[in-house]
This record gives sequence, C-alpha cells and structure tokens, in this order.
Amino acid sequence: MTVDAYIKMVSYPLSLLSTPVWLFDVEQLQVLWANAAGVALWDASSLGELQQRNMTLGITRTVRERLNQYCDDLAGTTDSVTEHWTFYPKGRPCSYECAISVVDAPNQQSWLLVNATRQDTASDSDTLYRSSALLHTSVCVSVFDRSGVLKYSNPAARRMLGAGTLTLPERFINADDWRSAHDALTHNAEANIEAQMMTAAGPAWHNLNLELCPDPVSGHRSILVSETDVSDRHAAQQLVHQLAYSDTLTGLPNRTSWLSQLESRLEQACSRRRQTAILFVDLDRFKLINDTLGHALGDQLLIAVAQRLNSCLQDNQYLARLGGDEFTLLLDETQTGSQSVKMAHQIIEALAMPIRIDGHELSITPSIGISLYPLHGSDANLLMQQADLAMYAAKEAGGGFRVFEPHMTTQMQRRLQIENHLREAIDQQALQVHYQPKLCAVDGHVIGMEALIRWHHPTLGWVSPNDFIAVAEETGMIRDITRFVLFEALLQQTQWASQGYLVSIAVNVSPVEFRQDDFVVTVRNALRATGARAEYVELEITESMLMADSNAVQAILANLTSLGVKLAIDDFGSGYSNLGYLQKFPLDSIKIDRSFLSDGEISPVIELIIDVGKTLSLAVVAEGVETAAQSDYLIAHGCDQLQGFLFSKAMNAQSATRFLGAQEERCMHWPNATVVAA
Ligand code: C2E
Ligand code: MG
Ligand code: MG
Repeated sequence: MTVDAYIKMVSYPLSLLSTPVWLFDVEQLQVLWANAAGVALWDASSLGELQQRNMTLGITRTVRERLNQYCDDLAGTTDSVTEHWTFYPKGRPCSYECAISVVDAPNQQSWLLVNATRQDTASDSDTLYRSSALLHTSVCVSVFDRSGVLKYSNPAARRMLGAGTLTLPERFINADDWRSAHDALTHNAEANIEAQMMTAAGPAWHNLNLELCPDPVSGHRSILVSETDVSDRHAAQQLVHQLAYSDTLTGLPNRTSWLSQLESRLEQACSRRRQTAILFVDLDRFKLINDTLGHALGDQLLIAVAQRLNSCLQDNQYLARLGGDEFTLLLDETQTGSQSVKMAHQIIEALAMPIRIDGHELSITPSIGISLYPLHGSDANLLMQQADLAMYAAKEAGGGFRVFEPHMTTQMQRRLQIENHLREAIDQQALQVHYQPKLCAVDGHVIGMEALIRWHHPTLGWVSPNDFIAVAEETGMIRDITRFVLFEALLQQTQWASQGYLVSIAVNVSPVEFRQDDFVVTVRNALRATGARAEYVELEITESMLMADSNAVQAILANLTSLGVKLAIDDFGSGYSNLGYLQKFPLDSIKIDRSFLSDGEISPVIELIIDVGKTLSLAVVAEGVETAAQSDYLIAHGCDQLQGFLFSKAMNAQSATRFLGAQEERCMHWPNATVVAA
C-alpha cells in the first residue's frame, strides 16, 4: 500500500472527530494529515498549507528527542501518553492536553497520532508553566505507589528508565541505600540521598529527592521522586579520593589511609580487648638500585614488591605504602605476636626470588620491624615509631626482622646524638685517621696501610665507623669525611715514602661518595695537593657499587684508573655473588670478607676466592686475621696479603711509623709457607 493510500485509510475515521487530530512524521518533522479542527488549531489556511509548513523552527532538540523516544516506546502498542503542549501557530500560544499514540506506518515508519483537547489558558497559566517545565526539564521526575510501582514519569525520567519495569526498591543497586531512604521517608516523609541507581543505560550515580505525597489521581499516598545524574561529579570525586588516599604507583593505600585505618583498628582492638601487630617493611639498598639503574626501573621494582607483599596478605590484614621503599602491614586483631613473626618470614620468602625487570635480575631483601599492640603501647604514633626502630635494628643487623625491644629506643637516641655531634667533630677537626698494616704473606713485609677513620668524643667515647659512617652517608657529611681521610692518608703516604717506607695507602670509599660527579676530581686534587704517587694509592670499593653494570660505573672506574690509582674490592664475598664484574672492571685486588674467618674458624670458601683471584690475576688480601692458625692456613693456600689484629690493630700515624720501623725484625720471624703446608 502506498503511503498516501495508507494515510487516507487511517484518517477516514479520524476526520469525523470534532477535537483536533493530526498525524505527524517525526523523521521529517512534518504534519502528514490533520482533520478540520487540527487545521484550525494550527491556524492553517488549508491542509495543503499545513502539510507544506516547516516545523523545524518550532521544535527544539529536546522535544525532538522526546518525540523520537515516544515512537520507540509506543510502537507496536495501543498505549498513549498524555502531555500538556503549548502550540504557537503564527506566534500565538495556545494550550492543549494532547494524547499521543503511535501509528505503525508502511516501510517500518512510526507516525505520531496526536489528539488535542483545549485547555483554559487564561484561568490557569500557573499549571501551564508547571507542566511545561515538567516536560522540558532534564530532572527526572517520577511517581511511585507505596509498593514502589511506577505510576508516572516525565519525559526525562522516561528516557532514563527506558522500557524497564523495575520497582523503586529494585532500582537501587545497593539495598542499604534503599533501606536508608525508606527509613528517612517513614520518619520524615522526605529523603535525600546519593545512590547508584539502575537506568536504561546501566548503573549510574544519581542524586535523589524522595517525598511522600498524595497521588493526584488516586489520592493514595505515593512517592514523588526527582533525580539527577551526578555520575560525572561522582567519578571526579572518586578520582580525587583515590589520589588522596591511595598510592598512585602501586595502587596500595597511602600514608593518609594507613593512619586513619590504624587509628580505627586500634580503637576496635581496644574495645574488644584484642591484640594486633604492625610490620614495617623497608627494602635494603633500594636507593642504590634507584640511583644506579634509574628511577623508572626503581618504580617497576616497587610495583613488583607491592604485588609480592599483597600475595602474602590474608583476610582482614591491611597493607599500605608509606612512601619511598617503605611498606607497612597491619595484622588482623585476632593475630598474635608469633603470627607477626610468621608473617615476617613469609614476606622474606616472598621477596627471596629475584625480580626480573628489563633484563635485570634484581635481588631485593627487606628489613622488617615489628611492634605489638598492646604490649608495646596503645598509641598509633608510638607503635609506628617502635616498628620503625625495630626495622632500623634489623637493617643494622644486615636485614631480616626484629621485634621491638625497649633498648632500641636508646640505640636510636644514640644515633641522634651521633648525628648531632658528628658535625661538630668535623668542624673542630676532631676526627683522626688510623692505619692498619697489610703484610706480604710470603715474607711479612708491610705492603700497604689501610686508612681507617677514628672518632673519640668526650662523652660518647670511641664511636665506631660502623655507627657513624651510615649516619654520615644519610646526612651528606660523608663528603667532608672522605675529603679529610683522602688528604690526610695521602699526605701520610708521602711522609712515609720520604722516610724510606714505600708502602701503598688504601682509603675506603663510601658508595654515596663514589657516585658523586666530582669524586674523580676530589681524588685528583688530593693526589696533586699531597704529591702522593698514584700507583701507591688504593681505593677500597664494595661489590654493591659495581652491581649496576651501567655506563656510569664504567666511566667512573675508567677515570679513576686513568689517574693511576689502584682499585680493591673490600669485603669480597659478603654481597652479590656475581663474579662477572671481576673480569669486566679494571680491578687490582680483592679483600676476602672478614666473616669467612670469624670466631677463629676458616671457611672453605676462602680457598675458592684465592683461586678466583689467581685465575684473574688479582692480588688476594685476607682481612680480619686474628689467629696464627688462620694466618698459617692463608699462607699455605697462597693468599697474597694478610691484615688483622694478629699483626696489628689500626693505630695512629706515630705507632704505624714505629710498626714500619720494626719491619726487619718481623720478617726474620715470618713463618715459612712451605714448612707450614707440609
Ligand atoms: P673495612 O674497610 O672492612 O675495615 C676493616 C674493619 O675491620 C676495621 O674496622 C678494622 O678495624 C676491623 N678489623 C681489622 N682487623 C680485624 C680483625 O682481625 N678482627 C676484627 N674483628 N676486626 C678487624 P673499623 O675501623 O671499625 O671500620 C669498619 C668499617 O667502617 C670499615 O670496614 C669501612 O667499611 C668503614 N670505614 C672505616 N673508615 C672509613 C673511612 O675513612 N671512610 C669510609 N667511607 N668508610 C670507612
Ligand atoms: Mg676497607
Ligand atoms: Mg673490609
């Protein structure tokens, strides 16, 4: 059937109606047909004129969307929607109550059939404004009966709800939200709530106002709901919250979250008379990795560590990143001290497997400090401090974990005292350099002297470098210390040389100083200023400094060797077991770590290290030789140089000079290696 024939067929019975009626094509925005009253309503001279009329101007985008929505919703049904419409034929407003239904036309088109009934505009302009506002507003307004069944929805609400038939309670994604809205309605006849609601487009955050009021049709109590979509604002708020409360790198809760969580969990544990524990996890030498391999890789390492820590978590435990390489974990309040120790073991194990990033195989170990509630205190800050102190104690002991003990507080106080007094000591030149000899294993003559820093404080007494070098490194004071020792030691070397004692001088280099841009310049200046011969100057560096096979390390080492100074690896065997770098870098000697000779024992690893040294043509020095048996063993196994309390402790320059003077005497009594080996 043609469109014209179809219109003719449909319009015949409609033309008999006395009220205005017309067929409207929403696609073309065109009146297809109108009865005589309809033509009059539009103030048209004829149907033909009305059909030609351009309706685009009078129909806004929102009206057009709404009309399209009716086509979709009412197509294939006999349902109708009634709305107040105001028409402006030739600019004059006139209001009608319009019943809108859909006629299914040929070619799968839908036309609107509008049947208008005149309203008395003069008497009720207020109603007109209200109904017009209700039609055009983007606020979704709907009325539900007390059981939550939808009774009315304005166009915006219809668009939002779609063809869904959910009741009001069913539209709340979170049942608790509906419960609290319902409670408020029951008590105050009104509720304001922001909740996640089901809409035709899926869940969305809405701001809702619910009011109990009489239904204008039935008179029954009903719920008038007005809602607006606040999803965008909610998403922005979520983002702000996320940024404020979680760590952007690892996604873990941040310090702010941690503090509030800790406070509230401690309160809970207190009211329930339960206990709990805090674990402070700090990564060993993370700064070194970050500085040598770059921050991007450091970041990836932190992400990987966060994942591994997360994998250790059980129900109700709380993990956060406080910043840098510091993580913290709160146990469940049912868990005891022994469980915190178990957890510490678990964390150490979880991090034990090397982490592969960008072709680097990174071994990272944690130092963990534990404090227990209520045993060590009830205050969140205090417990954090104690876990921190315990973590420091673990770090000083070379890693692993420690449970807080009261004496750690005194240790920390001492550390703070050291920090305060060290600056004074540097400024007042109260530091001294002592010298410990290194003897030739073959005949006992002094090959070199190692410069070791000494500090005697009037009240603290002798402070070990093991205690203050780390403080100096953290505070930057290491720079002054390195310069002082270098100048002092090189000057001493030249003095000995002028006295006929041609011994080399070894200076320990801190990893922090080694990486400084101007370190090479410092060494060159010291050589120039003191006149020391570079081939008699040895720098003791540690394995960790070479860990990163980066161009920077290569360049520093090349610059140092181009000055002519020698390089030794100190404490060899205590750190990384990657032997590859021994070949790669221009080294001269290795000093076997003292731990292989501890307690008068001799580790079989020593033999292995001596062999490695021989293979790579590196001089092998044994440090920490305390007994004749150790010395005999080392001599018999071909170790090149010996250093330790058996021969001498570090001594001041005067005593060291005397030691050099007694050289001949010592060499005469030096044990014969062949005899010992036999
Ligand atoms: P290190 O370079 O490995 O020095 C050897 C340490 O072992 C020295 O401790 C020395 O006194 C001690 N020692 C030597 N022989 C024996 C022995 O037979 N038995 C035992 N038990 N110990 C022995 P010291 O002087 O307390 O220095 C400790 C560490 O502090 C040094 O280890 C070094 O890493 C660092 N250090 C010392 N002076 C300086 C310095 O001027 N600059 C830097 N950056 N670090 C320094
Ligand atoms: Mg040393
Ligand atoms: Mg050493």
